[in-house]
Amino acid sequence: MSTVELADLTRSEIESALRGMGVEPYRAVQLFQWIYQRGIADFGLMTDLSQDLRRTLAEHFHISTPVIARHDVSEDGTEKFLLALADGRHVECVFIPDTGSQTFCVSTQVGCAMGCRFCLTATMGLVRNLRAGEIVGQVRALAAAVDLGGRAFNIVLMGMGEPLHNYDQTLAAVRILCDRKGYGLPPGRITLSTVGLVPAIERLAAEPLMPNLAISLHAASEDVRARLVPSASKYSITEILDACRRFPLKHRDRVTFEYVLLAGINDSDAEARKLAKRLRGLRAKVNLIPLNPAAGIAFERPSDARVNQFGRILSECHVAVTVRKSRGRDIRAACGQLAIEGGRRSPAQRLADAIP
Ligand code: SAH
Repeated sequence: MSTVELADLTRSEIESALRGMGVEPYRAVQLFQWIYQRGIADFGLMTDLSQDLRRTLAEHFHISTPVIARHDVSEDGTEKFLLALADGRHVECVFIPDTGSQTFCVSTQVGCAMGCRFCLTATMGLVRNLRAGEIVGQVRALAAAVDLGGRAFNIVLMGMGEPLHNYDQTLAAVRILCDRKGYGLPPGRITLSTVGLVPAIERLAAEPLMPNLAISLHAASEDVRARLVPSASKYSITEILDACRRFPLKHRDRVTFEYVLLAGINDSDAEARKLAKRLRGLRAKVNLIPLNPAAGIAFERPSDARVNQFGRILSECHVAVTVRKSRGRDIRAACGQLAIEGGRRSPAQRLADAIP
């Protein structure tokens, strides 16, 4: 008999399953505490459950935990993990220990279908969606491997994949992460970064548990964006910004707009002014990300002077702006550098790899 993956289930889904088996639903609380608070994924070790119940649980459920297949530590302290999933596929995720608070950067898909021209993950194409248990499982695996010092952590859904292209599993993962019997993460500690899938943003706007929203905008002109983010150009910048205007924000919260700066493509003074104009009236902050170059990516990182000038124009136009520090570039852990070796590669990538 095949068993159900318990790690994919929210607490209320576990409760219903237990009820169906004739087990008291409150046992779901104990399961959540074992799995998420104590990091135990083996029913046999759940000592406050009777032997009978442990046996029954093992007959109906299993709990998979991603296995660390590779671990790299950057000279700046960032740690990148290659995790093996139950079916042998791999995802990468990153631990950033010291950005004010500590942060896990987590993947939502194996590969990605969005095709952003400057992103290495895009060269893999979409291999498959992750299940909720695999998204949360990255946190479980990393939390067991790093020293959190008992301190709180943040999660950014900014690893491989487009979270809103895997909506249901991503939101189930958010519900599991925020459950107060598990990690009890306040939703404000989770940031969901999207290329801007408008119908999914509208759906997200009605969710009871609302992560922070980050939009990968990357351009102020429609034609530039269509070139850089071809799959998302189905929705215009205007439509995306309108959806952001309608997005319910709590007092003091803002929408983050990520903007990868590419030399000579989207980094002109005129584009900065246009961006400021477009963001007028929006509770926005812009996060400039100077391109993290990679073999096979046909763009260049602008000079620091250009990055600063772009930022200065935005702030002169009263737009809140920060420049994202590249973390872990030496181990290819920085934004847009996550890709699984041996996956599907673009011809450009293969050519670049062949250069000795
Ligand atoms: N699919 C989601 C989340 C993953 S990427 C999204 O598009 O938002 C997280 C951020 O890294 C995005 O803003 C993405 O555009 C950016 N990024 C991708 N490739 C990059 C690169 N080579 N250099 C810098 N940032 C990059």
